[in-house]
Order: sequence, then C-alpha cells, then structure tokens
Amino acid sequence: MSTIAKPTVKTYQNYINGQWVASSSGETFPVFDPSTEETIAHVASATAADVDKAVKAARAAFDSGPWAQTTAQDRGRILFKIADKIRQNTAMLAELETRNCGKPIVEAEYDLADVATCFEYYGGLANKVTGHVNPVPANALSFTLREPVGVAAQIIPWNFPLLMAAWKLAPAIAAGCTCVLKPAEQTPLTAMELANWFAEAGLPPGVVNVVNGLGEVTGAALVAHPGVDKVAFTGSAAVGKIIVKSAADTLKRVTLELGGKSPNVFFADADWEAAVDGALFGVFINQGEVCSAGSRVLVEKKIYTKFVEAMTEKAKRIKLGPPLDRDTKMGPLVSKEQYDRVTSYLEIGKKEAKTAIGGGRAKAFGKGYYVEPTIFYDVQNSARIAREEIFGPVASVIPFENEAEAIRISNDTPYGLAAAVWTRDIYKAFRVVKSIRAGIVWVNHMQPTYVEAPWGGYKQSGFGRELGPWGLEEYLETKQVFVNLDEAPIGWY
Ligand code: ADP
Ligand code: MG
Repeated sequence: MSTIAKPTVKTYQNYINGQWVASSSGETFPVFDPSTEETIAHVASATAADVDKAVKAARAAFDSGPWAQTTAQDRGRILFKIADKIRQNTAMLAELETRNCGKPIVEAEYDLADVATCFEYYGGLANKVTGHVNPVPANALSFTLREPVGVAAQIIPWNFPLLMAAWKLAPAIAAGCTCVLKPAEQTPLTAMELANWFAEAGLPPGVVNVVNGLGEVTGAALVAHPGVDKVAFTGSAAVGKIIVKSAADTLKRVTLELGGKSPNVFFADADWEAAVDGALFGVFINQGEVCSAGSRVLVEKKIYTKFVEAMTEKAKRIKLGPPLDRDTKMGPLVSKEQYDRVTSYLEIGKKEAKTAIGGGRAKAFGKGYYVEPTIFYDVQNSARIAREEIFGPVASVIPFENEAEAIRISNDTPYGLAAAVWTRDIYKAFRVVKSIRAGIVWVNHMQPTYVEAPWGGYKQSGFGRELGPWGLEEYLETKQVFVNLDEAPIGWY
C-alpha cells in the first residue's frame, strides 16, 4: 500500500472574475478518492446565479476589458507562464490527479507533461494566426481578419481532468476568447489548483472563470446562457445531444468530442508480440476510461483462438493496485456511478458472449471501485457490448474472415472517433485506413495523441477538431474587409 500521507481535506470555491467566491446557495459537494472511497475535498456548487456571474464576467472581459487590447504575443507569453507553473508543480498536480480520478500515478505524470506541452504549443501558435488577401476582380483590397469567437463555455469530462482543461483553455486564450470552464463534478481539483496561477500568469479578471457543479445544473445553465458565444464539450454522446439542442436557441457555435466504440483490427500477418500488447494497451490504458478506447478488438480468424489466448495470458499479469503505487498499471474506476455502469455491462457481456478473463469486481481490494480487466470473445457486432460505449476495462473480441469483413464490421457503429489496424502489409494497411470512417486511424499502434495533430470524431463521435491549428480555428471567426480604392461614385442610379 502507498505510504504517502493523507492531505488535508480542502474546500474549494469557484473562480469568478479573478476571485474565489462561495456558492450563492452556500452549498458544497464532496469529491472522493475512488481508491479509498473517502472524501478528499469539498467544492462550492455553482448555481444558475453563479454561472450568470461568471458569464457576465467573461462577457465584460471580452467586450470592454483590457483583454481585447492584448497582442497575440502577450497572450502567448501568458500561456508560457501557465506552462511553467505546471512544470514546476508537476509532482503536486499528478498526485492530486491520481487521488481524484484513480489513474496510475505514472500515467498522471504523462498527462501532466502533455498539459504543459499543450499550453506551450498554443503559446507558440498565438502569434502565427494570419489572414489572407483575397484576389477579388475589383479596384479594391479584400482581406481577412481572424477574430476571437467571444465567450466560450467549456465543459469537460473526468477521465483526463487537467489535460481536457488544457485542450479547451489553451487555444481559447491564444485566440483571445474569454472562458467559463466547468470541470466534471467528479474531478474538479487539478483545474482549481491551476486557477490559482491565472492572475500571476497575467490573465486579467474574468478572462478565465471556473465553475463547479452537476452537469444538469451548472453545465446546463452555462450552455443555455445567452451571453455565451460558443460551447466546447467533451463527454458522452447523450449529453452532446442535449447540448446541441440547448445551444440551438441562441445558435451558439458548438464543438463536440463524444464517445466511441473504436475498432482495433488485427490481421494474421501483424507482428505478434506488438499486436497482443497493442490490443491490451488500446483498451486497458487509463482503466479503459478513454473515449478512443479500442474496445472492439477485431481479429482475423486464422489467428483468432491463439490471439485470444495470448491476450488473456498477458492480461492476467496486469497489475491492479493503489494508483499512487508506481508499479500499478490499473487503478480503480473514477466513481461509484461509473463502477455500477461498468459492472452492469459485465453482466450483460456474460450473457452475450464468452468470458476469457475478468467479468467482475477485483476482489483483492476491500475498498475502491476496482474492476478486473475483462475480455469477452466470440462477440457479435450486434451485441450491446459491441455497440455501446462502456468506458471501462472491457474488451469485446470479434472474429473476421477477411479484409472486406474487417472494414464492414469496423464501420458498423454509430461512432467514428478512432480506429487502429495492425499488419505488415502496407497495401492492406492503407486500404483499411482509407475505408474506415473515423477521425484518427493508427497503423501498428493505438492511442498516442499529440498536440500537433488533430483530434475529433466522424459520425456520432462529434464535430469540430481539437489540437494543432485545427483546435485554434474553432475559437476564431473570419471577418472579410473590403476596401474600395476607386474614388468615383458607384454610378448605378
Ligand atoms: P458521464 O456520464 O461519464 O459523467 P457526461 O457526458 O455526463 O459523462 O459528463 C461530461 C461533462 O458534461 C461533465 O462535466 C458533466 O457535468 C457535464 N454534463 C452532464 N450533463 C450535462 C448537461 N445536461 N448539460 C451540460 N453539461 C452536462
Ligand atoms: Mg453524466
């Protein structure tokens, strides 16, 4: 067991207009450590009135504050300062992240490096946004200005808490937007620590606000607020649909990164060791709480039986344990709610398919939301465990006969976030890449994600792209300026 001392139970307020403020209702909600089930913090619940205050602060900062006068270079420098703070405090933030969401500490450290890199990337990109001169056939100059879209409401999930905050905040700040961020109610702590440094980094009051609370209350109030220009959401498809409907009333811009049921496709000629490893990594990393999890493992019939056996043997050695232990490879699920959801799918899976390993609670632990890594095989692609996002350590292995069938099964899903294909045959690899409808297709790997390259879904996995220049685009409007150079009257009438 971990020997690290327990931190004191802090109470966090909301961060509005550069101040830490209590909830207007006076209410707080508890935040848990999913490995001990103990309360580790209390957080002020933001009411609709608190959300209104935050949006008004963001509105004022955008419309009339000093923020509009900052140069792109100023904004870039602020982002670098935030990144520096993150790098200086990586150990504290990684530990807090692990305590709050249950991910292994080593994975939290990788996340923290990505968080800092994301702020640095957009810090560097801020002053590289340029317009165009348009070759209109007139005695005129036509050019474009890129301008910030305005107040952005940013609602994020609990699986990569601070990284999701970075993906939202960094491009918005670079673009010159102002933000109201709502972390997931399960995992608000690292974002609140981050907010401690905003003023010192140079963000004027109101430019970034952080409000906490339940999605249906705080999140819904934020999405409905007429002072918001754009909603950026990462979370479930069900909530994505609610958000689009609510945002329609005031025609807010919306970008969505939703769920998936991503195929991880293994051909018989794939490198064996790498393939078995990649099948497990694709679906079990971060306890399977990953929107791009390779939760449908498609395996060519020629190697199917041996492949399921090899995955199973290797899965037996995955070390579950307290997430602060450095050799832990899988921690508990984030919450009781998520544990109940995943274990209910395990019961469904046991009826729909055969169980190679797992299928229940990890019994070695008295407390904590630990679930065994689970492999179901002989799964029909029509089964619920092949169609619905489980968001836990559950692999559904599906056999296929040939390339055409692999492609057909891969695309037979409402989602289109990610896919991977494993083969040594480059012709086959690229045919599959071209045929799968998904926002990212990995070849002979699964999951690596870099801030330089785009991220987002096809089909019901959402719309819009994050990361890279694409992520910045979503926070920019395009204004055309037309300058007449001909002094004569138009002369039409
Ligand atoms: P999960 O079911 O795994 O918690 P959600 O999609 O519900 O995933 O949550 C992702 C984020 O969306 C969280 O920050 C949550 O509070 C927020 N959320 C949930 N419901 C709503 C809603 N109706 N309106 C706005 N935000 C919501
Ligand atoms: Mg929810």
